[in-house]
Amino acid sequence: MQILVGENNVNLRKKSVKIEKIDKKIKKLVTEMKETLESSEGIGLAAPQVGVNKALIIIKIGQKAPIVMINPEVLNESEEKVIAEEGCLSLPGVWGNVERPKEIKLKFTDEKKRSHVVILKDLNARIALHEMDHLKGVLFTDRVIQKKTSFSLDENL
Ligand SMILES: [Zn+2]
Repeated sequence: MQILVGENNVNLRKKSVKIEKIDKKIKKLVTEMKETLESSEGIGLAAPQVGVNKALIIIKIGQKAPIVMINPEVLNESEEKVIAEEGCLSLPGVWGNVERPKEIKLKFTDEKKRSHVVILKDLNARIALHEMDHLKGVLFTDRVIQKKTSFSLDENL
C-alpha cells in the first residue's frame, strides 16, 4: 500500500470512524498494513496513512510481531510526561520533540476480536499515542516543541 504524505493531505486530516465489524475486509486491511509497515521499516502505522479512515493502528513492540489495535482507547495516562524525538512515515525528513505521557492504560480489540487492556510505557506508549493521533487527524508536528528538518542548520554552531 502507498503511504500518504504531507501535512495538509486531506485523508491524514480526517477523523477516523470506529470499526463496528471485524470482517474479511478489515482482516485484509490488517494484512496489507503489516506488509506496508514491514517494507517501510516503520514502528507504527495508522489506517489513515494508507488512505483508510478507520480506527485501526498497528504498532511494533520490540522484536515481536506487530500488535493490531482496533478502536484503541486511552483509559488512563500518567501525570508524568516525557519529551522525546519523533518522526512519521507520512512526514519524511521531519523530526521533532514531542511531550507525551510516560505511561498509558489502553483498551483495544485485536483482529481476532479479542479485547485487551494493556499498560504501555515510554517508547511503546509514545508509538501508540502517535498512531492514535492519526485517527484524530492530528500529526506530531501539531504537537512538536521544536521542529527540525534534515536540511536545517544546527543553531548552536
Ligand atoms: Zn505518524
